[in-house]
Amino acid sequence: MLAARRLTWARVRWENGSVDSYPYIWLRDNCQCPKCYHPVSLARRVLLKDLDLSVNCVDIKLSNTGEEVEMLWTDGHQGTYDAHWLHERAFRGPKPAPHDREFRLKQQLWGREMQDKLPRISFPDIIHDDHSLLNFLESLEVMGVVLVSDVPCEIDQIYSFAKRIGHLRPTHYGETFNVYSRMDPNNLAYTGDSLDMHTDLPCLATKPEIQMLHVIKQFIGEGGDTMITDGFHAASKFKKNNPEYFDTLANTLIEFVDRGH
Ligand SMILES: [Zn+2]
Repeated sequence: MLAARRLTWARVRWENGSVDSYPYIWLRDNCQCPKCYHPVSLARRVLLKDLDLSVNCVDIKLSNTGEEVEMLWTDGHQGTYDAHWLHERAFRGPKPAPHDREFRLKQQLWGREMQDKLPRISFPDIIHDDHSLLNFLESLEVMGVVLVSDVPCEIDQIYSFAKRIGHLRPTHYGETFNVYSRMDPNNLAYTGDSLDMHTDLPCLATKPEIQMLHVIKQFIGEGGDTMITDGFHAASKFKKNNPEYFDTLANTLIEFVDRGH
């Protein structure tokens, strides 16, 4: 890596010949030295009000056999920048954030062809085996749904499951809620009626990210089946076939209100 001064930008030439430029003010603002960036809590310490907008670079040089750039500033401060850190943050136009680029898995859209092929993992495996837990989480990220089998038919099991993957976020229904037919239903879910396809709680500011449904007692007889579908698949098909209608739906403000409770 070669580094050179150029007006108010630092130009960095990489081993493969490509060049990236970094504004001085950005470099000073994002100095990674322990005075400017807390090495343990991984948080910046430079306050915006203390940043001198006219700061300039006095000296710039490579160190640690090209693995680092050292910069001396007009305010007397000296900062060191790691090559990998700089490379990750190069200004090259829009691109996915590093987390999305490196860790996020690609969603798989699915339709009826997946009817009997949805990922299925056993509850005891998820609880006791880290590999199965990872398999569950990755399948959920890719497919949006995973069938968990062999869960004991007891109400509290949902807590052990939730604890294994994160924590429960309460809503106005509480941390969990039970769905069964009631005499005085205040929500269609508490009736014996069939529910149409829907997304739960889109009216919330922080919408549910993962929803867990635990079948404890299956209705014997006609009905009571669970239906699931891939909303992203439906939306992408709809967008492709009816772009104008999709646009209208996507850009028309609608008030979502949950009148039941
Ligand atoms: Zn610093």
